[in-house]
Amino acid sequence: MSAPLVEFRRVGLTYPGPPPVTALAPCDLAVDPGDYVTVTGPSGSGKSTFLNIAGLLDAPTTGRYLLDGVDTGPLADGDRTALRGRRIGFVFQSFHLLPHRSAAENVALALLYTAARGRRAAAERRERAREALVRVGLGHRADALPSRLSGGERQRVAIARALVGRPALLLCDEPTGNLDTATARSVLTLLDDLHAQGLTLLLITHDPQVAARGRRTVAIRDGMLREVGAG
Ligand code: ADP
Repeated sequence: MSAPLVEFRRVGLTYPGPPPVTALAPCDLAVDPGDYVTVTGPSGSGKSTFLNIAGLLDAPTTGRYLLDGVDTGPLADGDRTALRGRRIGFVFQSFHLLPHRSAAENVALALLYTAARGRRAAAERRERAREALVRVGLGHRADALPSRLSGGERQRVAIARALVGRPALLLCDEPTGNLDTATARSVLTLLDDLHAQGLTLLLITHDPQVAARGRRTVAIRDGMLREVGAG
């Protein structure tokens, strides 16, 4: 048995207020390497809070969060950032691409703060960006500006950017929220493929059809997280 990649032990977050708001009540969750977990819940239920904690963007106010066996609570800011950079890729509803940079440059920029510097390093970043774009089916559009790409292609670039650092965990926040149904389906198929290749996925969605793509679904309501089913 391998250790969980993500392990919440009575993890919760209360904003101090006043008045204090418990955005996430203390909860347990274990996500094994290679799992695909979807997280559902209405607006205001605590999904972003959950994702921010899982993504090491926010620290819980109670409990312990272990990422890949590392207790993240005692980590200094720089170490948290480094761990996040090494282990986690993010995909958001909005693609957040730089408009005046090509697809390949947008992807390569994600490596700027993690990889070595220098001319050889720049060439390696470009090469890895192209590989990541090939992986999402966009090798032929590497030089295109985002304005020349469709919504689905832009989200693929964003996924390539999330993958280029070779994360173990991909955190997706409503990744199909800005896409039409057919395009959304193809992006979800891409995520299925990445999961089949061994990537661990945590995906937030309010759409039950999207949630059904996961192997497991957890629901959050009023800050309470509970497992609702395995696919
Ligand atoms: P969701 O992503 O499901 O819409 P959130 O995690 O953003 O939900 O919010 C959960 C709860 O925490 C909501 O009641 C929200 O109003 C509250 N909340 C979020 N951020 C803050 C904050 N910075 N200060 C106080 N309350 C907050």
